[in-house]
Amino acid sequence: MIADQKISIQPTVLKRDADYVFYELTRSICPTCRHPIDAKILLRDNKVYMQKRCPEHGEFEGLIYADADAYVNIAKFNKPGTIPLHYATKIENGCPRDCGLCPDHQQHACVGIIEVNSACNMDCPLSAILNVPQ
Ligand code: SF4
Ligand SMILES: [Zn+2]
Repeated sequence: MIADQKISIQPTVLKRDADYVFYELTRSICPTCRHPIDAKILLRDNKVYMQKRCPEHGEFEGLIYADADAYVNIAKFNKPGTIPLHYATKIENGCPRDCGLCPDHQQHACVGIIEVNSACNMDCPLSAILNVPQ
């Protein structure tokens, strides 16, 4: 009978969205110990961030591209990597310790990394540059 039934009213629970879109998974290195780790590419407020976690040194996040629309659209310019005439190193210890280029490298050299402004102190949590100020 309906009169004997208990009616429980649950409080309304509002689901909420994350403040980013997960775009892709890639590999990076821990800026502290240089071990290779997974890295998430996140789109937030039309900017692109890399977020990664080292089991020993914790989580790092940094801005890697200031225009998420451009970052997504630029993928259409991907092309097969041009194989270098010579490799300078062998595959022995894994990326990035075989750097040279080694035969495991998947891309041609397409972007020279040049520090173009004085704001770079090579000390952001994503920097892979080895001569970080101590
Ligand atoms: S050359 Fe080899 S070690 Fe260096 S980044 Fe490419 S894959 Fe990694
Ligand atoms: Zn680490």
